[in-house]
Amino acid sequence: KVSIHWFRQDLRLSDNPALSHAVKQGAVLPVYILDDEAAGDWKMGGASRVWLHHSLAALKESLGGHLAVFKGSAEHILTDLVAETGAETLTWTRCYEPWRRERDERIKSRFQDMGLDVLSGNGSLLWEPWTIRKGDGGPYRVFTPFYKKGCLAAPPPREPQPAPDISDFAPMPSSSLEVGALELLPTLPWGEEMMQHWTPGEKGADQALDRFFEVGLSDYSEGRDFPARPATSGLSPYLHFGEMSPNQAWCFSGRAGDFMGCEKDAEHFRRELAWREFSYSQLYFHPDLPTVNLNRKYDVFPWQEDTSLLRQWQKGETGIPLVDAGMRQLWQTGHMHNRVRMVVASFLVKNLLIDWRQGQAWFWDTLVDADLANNAAAWQWVAGSGADAAPYFRIFNPATQGERFDPDGDYIRQYVPELSSLPDKWLSKPWEAPEAVLRQAGVSLGKNYPHPIVDLKASRQRALTAYEQVKAHE
Ligand code: FAD
Repeated sequence: KVSIHWFRQDLRLSDNPALSHAVKQGAVLPVYILDDEAAGDWKMGGASRVWLHHSLAALKESLGGHLAVFKGSAEHILTDLVAETGAETLTWTRCYEPWRRERDERIKSRFQDMGLDVLSGNGSLLWEPWTIRKGDGGPYRVFTPFYKKGCLAAPPPREPQPAPDISDFAPMPSSSLEVGALELLPTLPWGEEMMQHWTPGEKGADQALDRFFEVGLSDYSEGRDFPARPATSGLSPYLHFGEMSPNQAWCFSGRAGDFMGCEKDAEHFRRELAWREFSYSQLYFHPDLPTVNLNRKYDVFPWQEDTSLLRQWQKGETGIPLVDAGMRQLWQTGHMHNRVRMVVASFLVKNLLIDWRQGQAWFWDTLVDADLANNAAAWQWVAGSGADAAPYFRIFNPATQGERFDPDGDYIRQYVPELSSLPDKWLSKPWEAPEAVLRQAGVSLGKNYPHPIVDLKASRQRALTAYEQVKAHE
């Protein structure tokens, strides 16, 4: 008997219930299909493609070379594969992006009608979104009750399962491609530089988790807000591509917290994993989350079109050091610290008055953890239009944020080296530094580092005035 396991956002062997089911049936044909057609507007961005290339190579290696890779319509390719192999079972791990749900439902009913055993397993979320609902059956709009009354009152997440022993593989179809033929890598060298910071794949995920437990977890609660401290896990791309299941992170953190006496930090970490669940809940119940304001009164918000300001933000040339450090970290590593993501996003939508969807699009293209649910939910949260959102009138001051969360300037100095000789006092606001201090530090505003592209005080006031238009619609 042949089973096809269709890998998607579950690029791992361990704790993969759908894969384990396939293995129990007999010979397995592991398959990956790059289906840009069905993804439409949400086909993977540049950084995600680079990650995927390396992740597929790692998965193929752990499968002893037995990964059949294809490009094109999943529906057509699977139909051909079933005909060619005579497969009787088709398994996959559920995904929640609206375009995938729609496609997967179609594929499921088609193959079930043909008499195949089709199993879609849970493996990417701790709780299925439809199981966490308010008493009245509707979705939660506020995180704390979602977490406490919803998640923590539900049956606890499944304990992670070991990898199945796959030794019985179905023959590889001749039409299968090499991973390189998917052409996921860019022609320019930025992808290689970015990947120096990462080891995609299941082994890389295990290493990241080990590192986090050794040096990050015990400082998580406090340290997670300081971008220069190694207190966060760096697990987001692994969770996004399913190189680690959220159950592994959740259950292991419980044990590590007990063992290391830092259960408070471990609990805080699990709360962040639950924010991921909250994002997926929002996307599940509001499939247009990435395009439409959840709070429709924001539809009248007077966003400004300004490609030149947008470009300066994207390139990390705003003249605001913490914003520039974040945007350059993103470009160089495909990642940005959460605190800094909040600051750069607030700067875009509030100080520059640029539509959150433009920021979301840039993150989509440049983040290695670009995730439809998390990205859309977070941008709407920052913009004020989302569920349980930060109120619009709460506007971060990026200079104060720099002083508070990068007090020794290590983060800014790493990514904005042209300011590295400035004393800490002026590092987050060089425009206020006396001329002599700038000269001594080799900083010449407007020459080797930009003047701020907006005045923070005036742009804050302008944002508050713009927000009045939203309030008028209440
Ligand atoms: P840790 O602090 O170690 O957290 C552990 C895990 O919990 C993360 O890997 C992530 O899966 C989850 N998590 C943590 N914070 C959040 C959060 N606020 N919302 C949802 N899940 C969270 N995260 C993405 O995974 N993909 C995105 O595309 C994305 N876009 C974002 C855009 C903006 C504007 C903002 C403000 C945040 C965004 N986030 C996104 C959330 C968060 O910034 C990242 O998940 C986090 O920085 C990843 O680093 P980490 O793995 O070290 O996090």
